Amino acid sequence: MSRLLLSQVRRLLVPQIGLLAQESYLGPMTSVPSRCSSFSWATLVGPEAHVAGCWCEAKGGDRFEVLDPGWGRTLGSVANCGSPEAEAAVLGAHEAFQTWSKTTAKERGRVLQRWYSLMMENEDVLAELITAESGKPLFESRAEVAYAAGFLQWFAEEGRRAYGHVIPASRSDCLMFAVPQPLGVAALITPWNFPAAMITRKAGAALAAGCTVVIKPAEDTPFTALALARLAEAAGLPSGVMSVLPCSRSNAPSMGVLLCRHPLVRKISFTGSTATGKELLRLAAQGVKRVSMELGGLAPFIVFDSADVGAAVKGAIASKFRFSGQTCVCSQRFLIHRRVQEDFLSSLSKAVADFRVGRGSEPETTMGPLINSHALEKVERHVKDALEHGANVVCGGKRHSLGGSFYHPTVLADVTPTMACATEEIFGPLAAVITFDTEEEVLAIANSSPFGLAAYVYSRDLAQVVRIVQGLDVGMVGVNEAAISTVEAPFGGVKESGLGREGSFHGLHEYMNIKYVCYGGLQN
Ligand code: ADP
Repeated sequence: MSRLLLSQVRRLLVPQIGLLAQESYLGPMTSVPSRCSSFSWATLVGPEAHVAGCWCEAKGGDRFEVLDPGWGRTLGSVANCGSPEAEAAVLGAHEAFQTWSKTTAKERGRVLQRWYSLMMENEDVLAELITAESGKPLFESRAEVAYAAGFLQWFAEEGRRAYGHVIPASRSDCLMFAVPQPLGVAALITPWNFPAAMITRKAGAALAAGCTVVIKPAEDTPFTALALARLAEAAGLPSGVMSVLPCSRSNAPSMGVLLCRHPLVRKISFTGSTATGKELLRLAAQGVKRVSMELGGLAPFIVFDSADVGAAVKGAIASKFRFSGQTCVCSQRFLIHRRVQEDFLSSLSKAVADFRVGRGSEPETTMGPLINSHALEKVERHVKDALEHGANVVCGGKRHSLGGSFYHPTVLADVTPTMACATEEIFGPLAAVITFDTEEEVLAIANSSPFGLAAYVYSRDLAQVVRIVQGLDVGMVGVNEAAISTVEAPFGGVKESGLGREGSFHGLHEYMNIKYVCYGGLQN
C-alpha cells in the first residue's frame, strides 16, 4: 500500500480505536467484539477482506492491485475474494440473520445512528480515501461522505416506520392484516463512482429492515468499502451481519454467479452498467430472487426559450461535470431551444473555462481525471464520431496536458440525436448540445432512448412544465433544478435504467416481504 494511502487509513482508524475504549458511547445493546480492541496497525491497514465477522486474506493469499485513477499507479493491494469467501460470507450472513432480524427496529436504528456518527466524525479522512481511489475532487468526496452517511441516519429513523396494515375483513369471523418482514440475506454489488454512498444507500435500508448483507464493492474502490466496514463494526454491528468481499474484475463474474444463485441469498441489489445488470437479472431469475437494479441513464437536459438561461447553465455545470460526468444521473443530451441556443452555448463555454483540472487531492481542483484509460478512450471515440458526423467543438475536445486519464471539459454543438454521444452513455465530461424547435420534437428525442433514469427541464411556462414532466418516460425529473438526489426521495429509473427504488420509504420496502395473515375462528 502506498505511504499516502497508508497514512490516510491510519488517520481514519485512530478515532475508531478511541471510541472502542469508550463502552458508554457504544451503549448497552450490542457489545463490540473483543478482538477489535486488540487490532494491530498491521491488521488495520492490511489487505484483509471482511468475511462473516473475520478480517482475513483471500484463500491462498490471493490479492489484486488497486490503481490511482489519474495515471494508473498502484495505490495498494487487497484480498482477491472468490467463491470460498463468498460462500462463507453468505453462510455467516444467514446465521446472523437469525438474531439480527429479531432485534427491534429501534435497536437496529441505534447501530445505524452510531455508524452515521462515526462516518461524519471521520468525514475528512473518508473523503481523502474516496478521492485517492476514485479521483474525484476533495470537495465532491466530502459531499459524498455526508450524502452516504445521510442514508444511515435516514434508514435508522425510517426502519421504525415500516408499517403494515389492517385489512377490512371480508368475513366477520376473521381478522386480516399484512406485516412487512425482512427478506433474508441480501447481496449488494456496487460501483466505483460513489464508493461510499452506493454502499450505505443499499446497506442502510437492508440493515434497518432486519436483513443481513454481503457486499461486493467495485474493484476500483475496495478500500473505502472496507473502511466503512471497520466503522460499522466499531458502531456495534454484530459479527456476520455485514461482509465486504473485494475482488478483481476477473473474479467478478464467478462472484456474481455464486451470489445470484445461492439459495440462501434472497435479494440482489446492483448499481452499475445495464449490460452487467441484465446478466445479474438473468442469473437471479433462476432462483426467483428479489432484485433492485440501478442501471444506465441518458438524461436529457431540456432548456426552453422561456427558461432563465443563467440558472440553466448553472444546472448544466452541476449535472454534467460533477465527477467528470461519471454519474448515472449526469446530463447526457442537452436539448436546447433554437431561440436560446446561442446564449446558452456562450454562457456554458465561459463557465466551463473556469474548471481547474487536476488531481482530486489538490485543493484547487474542480475536475479530476476519468476513472481509467478505457473511460478516456470512450469519450475520445464519442468526440471523433460526432465531429465526423457534423458536430462542432465549442470548447475542449481533447486530452489534457496532464496526461493519464485527464480530459478537457468539452462542449459540442450541432449534435444530432443519432450520433454515438446522444445514443450511448458517455460517462465523461462531454456536453453534447442538440437544437430543437417544438415541445413534440423535444419529447420525442428525450423518450427515444431505451433508458429512463433522470431528466432535467428548464422553463418558466408553468403549463409547459406540467406537459413535459407528464410526457417524460423517466423515473426522476428536476424542474429548474439539477441537484435532485437526496436520502428522502425515491431514486431509480424506468425502462432499461432499472427496477426498484433506493432512498425514501420505498428503499426500505425493497428489503421486506409482505406477509398476509388471516386470523380466523373469532366467532363466539
Ligand atoms: P463499470 O463498467 O462502470 O465498472 P459494471 O457494471 O461493469 O460497470 O460494474 C459495476 C459493478 O459490477 C462492479 O462492482 C463490478 O465489479 C461488478 N461486476 C461487473 N461484472 C460483473 C459480473 N458479471 N458479476 C458480478 N458483478 C459484476
